[in-house]
Amino acid sequence: MNQSLRPCQIDPLRMDSLLGRARGRFTLEALAECGSTSTLLAERARQGAPTGLLLVADQQTAGRGRRGRSWLSSPETGLTFSVLWRFAGKVSRLAGLSLAVGIAVARALEGSGVRGVGLKWPNDILLEGDKLGGILVELESEPGVMRAVIGIGLNLQLPPAGEEAFLHRPAALAQALSPLPDRHQILAQVLIDLTEVLDRFAEGGFRVLRSEWQAHHSWQDRQVRLVDGNRLDREGICLGADEDGALLLRTSAGIERCLSGDLSLRVA
Ligand code: ATP
Repeated sequence: MNQSLRPCQIDPLRMDSLLGRARGRFTLEALAECGSTSTLLAERARQGAPTGLLLVADQQTAGRGRRGRSWLSSPETGLTFSVLWRFAGKVSRLAGLSLAVGIAVARALEGSGVRGVGLKWPNDILLEGDKLGGILVELESEPGVMRAVIGIGLNLQLPPAGEEAFLHRPAALAQALSPLPDRHQILAQVLIDLTEVLDRFAEGGFRVLRSEWQAHHSWQDRQVRLVDGNRLDREGICLGADEDGALLLRTSAGIERCLSGDLSLRVA
């Protein structure tokens, strides 16, 4: 069937019936295919799309990670979507937002019976240490308001091997849940937890969520390298995140805060 005529696997009416406490907070558009849900949503946001607009796509032909990296998925293996949210105030109030989103995904998965969920600074969702999902938060400002496009990719099954080798071994929800719940249920649970976490974040910032993040932090006390692109930036013991979501690293110079969203953590 012509790709553009193929219906999306997600049925917005079915989603609405599953959203519980989050009902009314989202306007869902389901696409069979697009380049990147985040790119499309950012364009819609610039044209004034409402908070809570959610684009979910079976197939992204240009799914994105950080710094131009790709997120690989297929209609069978992935659940990929982006949500538009607005927050009052300045960009500084959004420090730690991608970590907060990680907490919401972890809550949703654990609430669905998944064990072994962990988080890695700043944007990875892990299952028994392997990469189950990724989060991409992109910000733009409006007068007095910050706009966030929150992209989430989760592996339901192991992703198709691409040309690019995976840096971290991928994981899939099917390894943790048998039978795998319907994708509507997984998405609905993530959205329910996301609204709660984003509401708390809007009131109190990452500070009020930090202990929950630390409790899920998979790389706590590990010897790590912090890289900026391919360049070694610092090496030390990973101590998790501070109240602003900055990475805390114990180095020979003491405890250092690393704020740049462009830094990546690697095993030493
Ligand atoms: P960082 O530690 O900086 O986040 P990262 O390699 O985890 O580095 P991301 O931008 O978070 O980078 O994610 C993109 C990377 O994730 C890709 O370069 C690829 O290695 C990997 N990847 C892409 N698709 C998937 C997938 N479906 N499942 C697991 N890993 C994937």
